[in-house]
Amino acid sequence: MPVGQEKEKSIAEKREIALKRAAELKSQIKPYLQAREKIPDGFSKWEEIQKRQAAIKKFFQADENEWQDWHWQLKHRITESETLVKILHLSQEEAAIIDKVGAKYRWASSPYYLSLIDPDDSCCPVKKMCIPSKEEILDENGKEDPMAEEYTSPAPAVTRRYPDRLIIKVTNQCAMYCRHCQRRRLIGEVDRVTPRRQLEQALEYVKKNEEIRDVLLTGGDALMLNNDLLDWLLTELDKIGHVEIKRLGTRTLVTMPMRITDALCRVLEKHWPLYINTHFNHPLEITPAVKEAARKLTRTGVALGNQAVLLAGINNDEHVMKKLNQMLLKCMIRPYYLFHAKAVKGTNHFRTRVEEGIYLMEKLRGYTSGLAIPTYIVNAPDGYGKTPLLPQYLVSSSADKVVLRTWENRIIEYRNDEDIQ
Ligand SMILES: *Cc1c(COP(=O)(O)O)cnc(C)c1O
Repeated sequence: MPVGQEKEKSIAEKREIALKRAAELKSQIKPYLQAREKIPDGFSKWEEIQKRQAAIKKFFQADENEWQDWHWQLKHRITESETLVKILHLSQEEAAIIDKVGAKYRWASSPYYLSLIDPDDSCCPVKKMCIPSKEEILDENGKEDPMAEEYTSPAPAVTRRYPDRLIIKVTNQCAMYCRHCQRRRLIGEVDRVTPRRQLEQALEYVKKNEEIRDVLLTGGDALMLNNDLLDWLLTELDKIGHVEIKRLGTRTLVTMPMRITDALCRVLEKHWPLYINTHFNHPLEITPAVKEAARKLTRTGVALGNQAVLLAGINNDEHVMKKLNQMLLKCMIRPYYLFHAKAVKGTNHFRTRVEEGIYLMEKLRGYTSGLAIPTYIVNAPDGYGKTPLLPQYLVSSSADKVVLRTWENRIIEYRNDEDIQ
């Protein structure tokens, strides 16, 4: 109500209005609070996860020290359906499908990430993200490289799509190969760290192009590199005066949190300002082990962000999405992007409509902390870049006013010339 048109209310009357509004807000959040209880997460399921970890350790005859060693985790990535049958109690039919799909699209998972899978839940979101399914080979529509990365590489290992920043792909290796991977064409048959010569050429390109102020090391997974190589790369980047910030793209916080060792933190600390973007898609992936790793990184002075992918059957649900982003904040990981799944061949079963993404954004803004709200991004085909999409809050505009829609769908007029002299 416009100030000045009404007689000033008493303090008691104002409090009365505020209490009524608070009651309204309180009832509004109820459906979420009820739904949140039922969404499994890596904290509520930690006991079960630990039991499964004990069983996997027994299978490999490994002790806790080995389990906590990322080299052990990498070396014992599960890559054969026979092993999966034993660990996840799969049927022979399922194993046959995995072998058939696996012949076309590589798969592998760290023992840690496998331990997050509930073998008794046929719809387990973690399972969907890491175990091959027959839908992958039924997909006739997708493209191998919808982003046309091959056409945006001005130097070896470099992808440049923007005026002031670029990506260097430092390896094709990951601790787990996501079934929705956008770069599946590069995963190939074998792990390959980008050859030193190509890394030098990439650094040379950065050096020669003074407008590049932001360099992202990604892959694959940038934290598959050993600490020495990583230290060398970051040191070389620090020597380039115009490089203001470095970023690492890694999913190890999700798939192998033991990668975040004290030794790694000692390396990363030297290269401040450094940002790490990771990739959590479901609350089940957020465990006490993740929280500890994230705590170490933030103490080290690394800023953490999350780049989720909107995936059908995994997180295309307003409550799951809200819980995911709120849990990330509890680990000091700031939701950064929510990517619309691209038309990558073999991933069609994960794709949603764009309207679904916009709906989810609508259900975040206002309903939860602004910090918990990523930017929803559709990647333009052919590498033309990230395109943000939002629900429409501007209803109309005219010479003297705009009509806005608030997060709760209240339509309000807002004078556009009010404060302009
Ligand atoms: C995503 C991306 C970046 C980083 O984009 P930001 O919006 O700055 O996070 C840079 N280069 C390429 C090629 C990318 O795909």
